[in-house]
Amino acid sequence: MVNNQYLYPAGKANFRDSYDTKIADWITAWDGTAEVDFGIVGLPLSKSSISHSGASMAPKAIRELFSAYSTFVVEDKINLNSLDVQDLGDILMHPTDILGSQERIEKTLTKLYDKQRKMIPLLLGGDHSVTAPSVKAFKKLIGDEIGIIQFDAHHDIRNLEDGGPTNGTPFRTLISSKIINPKNLVQIGIRNYANAEHYSYEAESLGITVYPMQQVRTRSITDILTDALAVASKETKAVYVSVDIDVLDQAFAPGAVAIGPGGMDAWALLDALEWLGGKEIVRGLDIVCIDPTQDYRNMTSRIAVQLLLQFLRGKHRLLKATY
Ligand code: CA
Repeated sequence: MVNNQYLYPAGKANFRDSYDTKIADWITAWDGTAEVDFGIVGLPLSKSSISHSGASMAPKAIRELFSAYSTFVVEDKINLNSLDVQDLGDILMHPTDILGSQERIEKTLTKLYDKQRKMIPLLLGGDHSVTAPSVKAFKKLIGDEIGIIQFDAHHDIRNLEDGGPTNGTPFRTLISSKIINPKNLVQIGIRNYANAEHYSYEAESLGITVYPMQQVRTRSITDILTDALAVASKETKAVYVSVDIDVLDQAFAPGAVAIGPGGMDAWALLDALEWLGGKEIVRGLDIVCIDPTQDYRNMTSRIAVQLLLQFLRGKHRLLKATY
């Protein structure tokens, strides 16, 4: 339209550099049928959180930041936009039925995976309760034993009698329903004063491999991950990575639902996701427990975006190496 060249859609960036490709230009909405290599799905459930949580807002907050970051990796001189990553959307939650919402997650992901056999899911919580139905669907996709590497301040194996399947119980659910063997579960970043004595001993007796924060601080993260992946991939067909953002120190993640001192720094976690992305057996990822309503300048959601990108950076390297 004549003289309207400066009119642009509301909400779009007010500056564009024609040489700069943003994440938002690269990751676009799925058409509902195409087979995809990497699929983002939002799981906006946080009514199942045992503490105040607006984590249901996280998928939206994270996506909004896709216009803030470039697809180019300076350190590797690679452009992630050669990867096929699509946004499959969010799973609709029931406003009052929490168990029903968790069931929707399992059913919807199972249905998706039936048609998307090679897709690597990139799941955005939600609180940590979403990991239980998500991993149930993932297990059906893989059709064999799976391992889990969990970044978390907490064991998340609380009993189910006191409150049902909350964000404190996903790994209890997965172990007691025999979806995973606790011997293939690795917990990294478990923190003092954040876990009950009972669950610390129980994690040990179940055979869960635990790297508490002091080890994470004093050993290199790749050293830990080498050991962790050996455990998670022993006699398993695939490894799923679950990142509870509360594994980070409160200084890095003000929008974590359970903030606290003494956690990981952002560099170690960013390095960890790149390392894990670079392993073929790692075939699923979720990032949970970010509350954008408590965040400061979207700091925590920004980390989530870069954790996704670091994971994909690892996958990019892996895929290029096999050409
Ligand atoms: Ca957790």
